[in-house]
Amino acid sequence: MITYDFDLKIFYSTLINDDIFFGGFGTKALGDGRNIDTSINFFRENIPNFKTIVIPEQIHSVNVTTFSANLIDNVERVSETDGVITKDHNSVLTVITADCSPMMFVDKKNGIVGISHQGWRGSVKRLGQRMIKKIIEVGGKKENIMVAIGPSIGQCCYDIDDERYYEFLEEFEVFADKIFHRHKGKLHLNLALLNYLQLKEIGLPAKNIDHFPFCTCCDKKRFFSFRRDKKIEYGEMLSFIVKSV
Ligand SMILES: [Zn+2]
Repeated sequence: MITYDFDLKIFYSTLINDDIFFGGFGTKALGDGRNIDTSINFFRENIPNFKTIVIPEQIHSVNVTTFSANLIDNVERVSETDGVITKDHNSVLTVITADCSPMMFVDKKNGIVGISHQGWRGSVKRLGQRMIKKIIEVGGKKENIMVAIGPSIGQCCYDIDDERYYEFLEEFEVFADKIFHRHKGKLHLNLALLNYLQLKEIGLPAKNIDHFPFCTCCDKKRFFSFRRDKKIEYGEMLSFIVKSV
């Protein structure tokens, strides 16, 4: 279940958060995720042994990096990657999004956490499935992996052109009935559902997946949205996950 924490101004998944694992999907109220000082202050206040914030470059790739902290820096940047996994304690994995779909992963039994950012490019190339494979490579087990899919643009607001439609159709014809909808003569894509179906396709049980009922573009009060605000100033939401001690 996805729940809101009024004090921290984040949404979180009850599949993920407990005494050791702490993940969150930030809101507008938390501030612009591109502001690293805001993020560091938040982690210092809320993670007792906060060590490092891990910031992937986010180039709309399907590259996944296994991260291990060097114990020196508070800020570690990972180049050319959109997915990060770690077995570290207190290294906070982050992504920023404004309409794209953030996902967080945890295998509690094997002590692995992960985070990824998928816009249309990462979704069409199955980044979520690559994350699962990478977690298994470092010792995770499919039946233990829990995933929370964060706030992204809903199918209500995500219309796509023909070129994009055929690109998705070629890859996901089997899901076509579920992920495409026609609205006022335009084709719309359900990005979050597509990512959910990919997780099911690779063998994750439905009970291991939490997902979001909101649309970043519709919900102006809670979320930043690139599509809605690109002509004016827009921000990005911070998402994070950490295994603490
Ligand atoms: Zn919408």
